[in-house]
Amino acid sequence: IIGKVNRRFAYYNPKLMKKLIKGQRLVNMFKGALERGEFTIYLQPQVNRDKKVVSAEVLARGITPDGTAISPAEFIPVLENSGQIVELDRFIWEEAARLLKKWMGTPLEPLTISVNVSPQDFEYMDVVNTFISFADTYGIDRKKLKIEITESSILSRRVKESRVIDRLVDAGFQLEIDDFGKGYSSLNTLKDINARTLKLDMAFLQMTEKDKKRGEVIIESVIQMGKRLGMHIVAEGVETVKERDYLIHLGCDYLQGYLFSWPIPVPGFVEKFGWQFGL
Ligand code: C2E
Ligand code: CA
Ligand code: CA
Ligand code: CA
Repeated sequence: IIGKVNRRFAYYNPKLMKKLIKGQRLVNMFKGALERGEFTIYLQPQVNRDKKVVSAEVLARGITPDGTAISPAEFIPVLENSGQIVELDRFIWEEAARLLKKWMGTPLEPLTISVNVSPQDFEYMDVVNTFISFADTYGIDRKKLKIEITESSILSRRVKESRVIDRLVDAGFQLEIDDFGKGYSSLNTLKDINARTLKLDMAFLQMTEKDKKRGEVIIESVIQMGKRLGMHIVAEGVETVKERDYLIHLGCDYLQGYLFSWPIPVPGFVEKFGWQFGL
């Protein structure tokens, strides 16, 4: 009897159970949440070497009934597990296209916008045609849409075999390798990738005092390598003036991070940076 009980209870891991229940609750909540407007986009600026805003990254946020924003760290992994990330990303990308359309013919027209793509998107939807159809529906300039794909996605068999990257580039979209350096085969990615921009993972800036020197060696090498390959380099996670000056000194083309702005709602973004465009 004891054996039986033990075996049964071997499956009961309270921590895992709690996680599953929480996950299931989120999955159920997601149904309809999109329609109820419980997800929205925030924008975080990317600045050039002259500190001028040239682009914005679109970041998903969940909004609770009391108006609190929920970080994607809370829901993206859950939605990736359930496959629902596809629906969220379609929604976010359409919002991005809508925004570009809204800015057309206004002083904000020069801004480009970048969006994120989850590895699951490549499994469960036609990413290339989804982007093409949003760009066409809203009549936007495809060059204005920058598609951030993580290095690990790029290395997946699915992405390689379907030549998604080449097809996106051929269709006229800009491509950014996100979280560069976080994966295991960085050099291999660069060997044959058709992307013009490389986004250096912020982990190297966030090294502890003890490992700082190592982080810097990696940052310097990646920037040098990217530049020699003719790529643009974006540094993300720039939090201090010191980090900014260091990265500019190394030749980074674009910077993004809390130093310039947190991700904020679209109206706040326009209010905060519109003056740079004469608004
Ligand atoms: P990511 O694509 O690497 O986005 C950058 C993250 O770093 C954002 O977190 C941003 O708020 C944060 N960040 C920006 N500046 C700084 C800084 O100076 N210091 C630090 N420590 N962090 C900074 P967020 O918005 O919480 O998003 C987290 C991740 O969730 C994103 O990482 C991305 O992988 C994913 N994500 C966000 N929105 C979407 C989306 O619409 N679709 C998909 N598939 N993934 C998304
Ligand atoms: Ca990103
Ligand atoms: Ca990133
Ligand atoms: Ca830092």
